[in-house]
Amino acid sequence: MDLEFKLNASLKTSADASNAKDVISQILKSSSDILSKGAPEGQGAKIDSWSIDDNKINLELSSGRYVRVHDAIFRLKKKITPELGKQFRIGVRGIEINSFNINVPSTTDLSHLKIPFVSSIVHENDVLYLDLNVTESELQNRIPDRILNLIEDKINALTYGGKAEHWDLLWQSDKKEHQFNKDPTQELVKQGWIKRGASRGQWIHGPESTKFFRTLEKIVIEELLEPLGYKEMIFPKLVPWEVWKRSGHAKGVYPEIYYVCPPKTRDPEYWEEVSDYYKVTHEVPVDKIKDKIGDPIGGLCYAQCPPFWVFLQGETIANDQFPIKVFDKSGTSHRYESGGIHGMERVDEFHRIEILWTGTPEQVVSDSKELQERFKHIFNNILDLEWRMAWVTPWFMAQEGLAGTSQQTDVGTIDYEAPLPYRGEDGEWLEFQNVSVNGNKYPSGFNVKSQSGEELWSGCSGVGLERWASAFLAQKGLDPENWPDEFRKRMGELPKGFSFL
Ligand code: ATP
Ligand code: ZN
Ligand code: MG
Repeated sequence: MDLEFKLNASLKTSADASNAKDVISQILKSSSDILSKGAPEGQGAKIDSWSIDDNKINLELSSGRYVRVHDAIFRLKKKITPELGKQFRIGVRGIEINSFNINVPSTTDLSHLKIPFVSSIVHENDVLYLDLNVTESELQNRIPDRILNLIEDKINALTYGGKAEHWDLLWQSDKKEHQFNKDPTQELVKQGWIKRGASRGQWIHGPESTKFFRTLEKIVIEELLEPLGYKEMIFPKLVPWEVWKRSGHAKGVYPEIYYVCPPKTRDPEYWEEVSDYYKVTHEVPVDKIKDKIGDPIGGLCYAQCPPFWVFLQGETIANDQFPIKVFDKSGTSHRYESGGIHGMERVDEFHRIEILWTGTPEQVVSDSKELQERFKHIFNNILDLEWRMAWVTPWFMAQEGLAGTSQQTDVGTIDYEAPLPYRGEDGEWLEFQNVSVNGNKYPSGFNVKSQSGEELWSGCSGVGLERWASAFLAQKGLDPENWPDEFRKRMGELPKGFSFL
């Protein structure tokens, strides 16, 4: 069975349209051109039956993927309305939807899903039968199309399953002998360089570790950002829904967000009960607080670059400004990660330099190549790492790429990975950063235009300092004696930290 839409609807008329039966019949009979306009030969919408009773013209329509029934009903309404008005002084008041069904071929059972406007989903004989509860306004807002996209995305995701990411090796360093084979996090704790913070997945960095992180930053700035002309900016770190709607994160970031709720008011009297409760019990009354805070307005910084785009939002940018190249290292990123205990490489609060560039597709692709060269220089000549880079276009992007207009094959992500010797010969490599070409996603999401009218693309790269540190320290250990000269030269002396009795 093919994909099928079925609509049973009535055009509501201002008076009984029985007298207009012949005219309506004529319009419907000759409607095959408007019902197939834009569809491949023989694949338009069809009128399965129709009738008139009281103040209604009832229509049963069916269609496949092209000229869907909800488009068909509007086209018919547009054709019928002026004729009824002119010849019979009858107005068409609107469309009443009696039933709307989508039948999607699928071996996957999705009948457990809760989807807005879908009153039931039944899976039978490799078909998902969707019953929609929609009105004319939902049809106008193309809700049925979005529901179908959602279902098809879910079917694809489940079908692709394990190969959710496509992985192609691009470059690999020589294999290296590593002097160290311990878990660097445990070693850092043992030597007092870091301590667990009070919150989940959070570390406090002592002077040694801080100097080490700052040296990594300095290397990125001096060896990559300055030579390539990137300018520092400060991006916001509290991100409202509006931004994630435009960046696309609103589609799926929910399980990993640290949510932010503002107080309902800053009136001290309103909060007095809470502070008094604490003063008397020495317990923070979380239940009382829950009642006194508003709905979440968004969350803490997740991906770092989305809030930058508000800076360009709605602007038309002069040609000579491109490519725009900036970076942000002004604050932490926060993700609610899975799992109980994790080392420094997967934390809920992390430090990242986010590099971001935008321009024509050619500029964006060529800037990405420049960055890749500079990173290679840093990893080979300064950090002396064993590492590799791989092209990891997620399958959904690959799919969008197929549907895209321009050279969307350049769109995707390069992951940088390093082996962690303590995990053993066959242990999983650590993704320590990425370089992404995001196509027109951000400029179009935030409505940014170029003066020339040419399509704008953008890219971003997240230098995760915890991940760089984990890769470096796992391979080299904590003794600066064993660190490469090029690194030590840039670091200078490691400060002496604190010891406890
Ligand atoms: P992973 O698959 O390891 O969870 P990711 O695909 O979620 O990584 P991205 O969303 O691509 O990571 O984030 C970009 C960069 O941010 C990563 O390459 C990494 O350096 C850093 N990063 C992401 N999540 C964390 C984390 N929980 N702890 C430390 N660094 C992180
Ligand atoms: Zn980014
Ligand atoms: Mg992740």
